[in-house]
Amino acid sequence: MIINLYDTFEKRKKEFKPLKKDFVRMYDCGPTVYSHASIGNMWRYLVSDYLRRILELNGYTVKQVLNITDVGHLTQDDLLAADTGEDKIEKAAKKEGKTPEQIAQFYTQAYFKDRKKLNILDPVVVTKATEYIPQMIKIIEGLIKKGFGYELPDRVCFDVEKFKSYGKLSDKTLDQLRSGARLEPIKGKRSPYDFSLWIKDDKHLMKWNSPWGVGYPGWHIECSAMSLDTLGESIDIHSGGEDNIFPHHENEIAQSEGFTGKKFVNYWVHIRFMLVDGEKMGKSKGNYYLLSDLEKEGYEPLAFRYLTLSNHYTSPINFTFESLKNAQKALNRLRLAVWRLKKNAESKDEKKVKILKNNLLEKLNNDIGTPQALAYIWEILDSDVKLGDKLELITMADKVFGLNLVDWNFSVSEEIKKLVDNRNKLRSKGDYEKADKIRDEIKRKGWVVSDTDGNVEVFPDLDDHTY
Ligand SMILES: [Zn+2]
Repeated sequence: MIINLYDTFEKRKKEFKPLKKDFVRMYDCGPTVYSHASIGNMWRYLVSDYLRRILELNGYTVKQVLNITDVGHLTQDDLLAADTGEDKIEKAAKKEGKTPEQIAQFYTQAYFKDRKKLNILDPVVVTKATEYIPQMIKIIEGLIKKGFGYELPDRVCFDVEKFKSYGKLSDKTLDQLRSGARLEPIKGKRSPYDFSLWIKDDKHLMKWNSPWGVGYPGWHIECSAMSLDTLGESIDIHSGGEDNIFPHHENEIAQSEGFTGKKFVNYWVHIRFMLVDGEKMGKSKGNYYLLSDLEKEGYEPLAFRYLTLSNHYTSPINFTFESLKNAQKALNRLRLAVWRLKKNAESKDEKKVKILKNNLLEKLNNDIGTPQALAYIWEILDSDVKLGDKLELITMADKVFGLNLVDWNFSVSEEIKKLVDNRNKLRSKGDYEKADKIRDEIKRKGWVVSDTDGNVEVFPDLDDHTY
């Protein structure tokens, strides 16, 4: 079945065609590990996870590579293509009284813990920037040889004017870039948007030898080197947050294509920002949340996952605690619905199942259409489709949703079982008043007892969380 993906480079939805049959080379720009990842960061990795799972559902083998930026890039990098500023990892190391390696290791582990909680699949390959310095040096040497790189007394720069299609990904022309330059020019830089490939600095805590002296690599060169080494010269998909488009990905294209002379990426997938209460998230604004902050409020990480499934990645997601609460409730309802299906599923109509699955896949394949797929699941749940068919459809959907719906279960304690038995006995004797009192007691203990079609059901009162 056709998969469509929106490609930032061509600015249109394109049919996905891999370079190699049945195989996908996918590179995700990973975190810079100097602090905890925010829920906005995690949204970006959740979308990558949905994409990978959709590709796998379609039968592709996905080689998903994720990098860990453990060298640290410069604090100004987020704002501008600046080459001045302090290294984030070193800054954190000084502040916390640790070595940069300790900082990187700590926050890498924290990041992977969050991924696990959110049920994000482990990447096939995880690369650390510090382990790819020789590969970076090789590319820089090649770029200098080809006239794209030039050496200054304190650094090696990339000459953006030499790379003809510079600005195409971010839709910026060099003229616009020049007039919009708000940077203090670095001495000897040929153009304000030339960026550093290597910074000579023997005082930097993390430093390596290079043909241009002791120092450390520029941020952008890391991803070019790791992508080239693990996936080859051309890859299918490169993902990142929308803030990566410029300058990071623009510079990656310039470096990679300048070096290999080949097209670097066929599909650029960019995930929009996360807003909180309609505003941009910011540490100083007090609306900067970590996954652990949501857990402290009593929400499950999977409720956050559910929330992100219901928002398409090409629009900004607006996080509110109200929407998280609704997501938690919806997740709970979905779990109960699946639990019931598992208990009651009867024979299936294979033909019907095939149609349902095709409909679902069509929605997912349309540019990571998880919101449409989720809506479809609710629609089918409410329909008169056979229970067995519903269960099979949801089992398939959950391969992408990753909500562990089918595995979800609970056990009823002896105490509750006894109360339910007592209630049943009272009811069979016609003593409904006393039976209802016991039902209320069960409810107070966090359980629901319900009578449907002559069957007595007992399950946790999932809506009763005092969030
Ligand atoms: Zn990157």
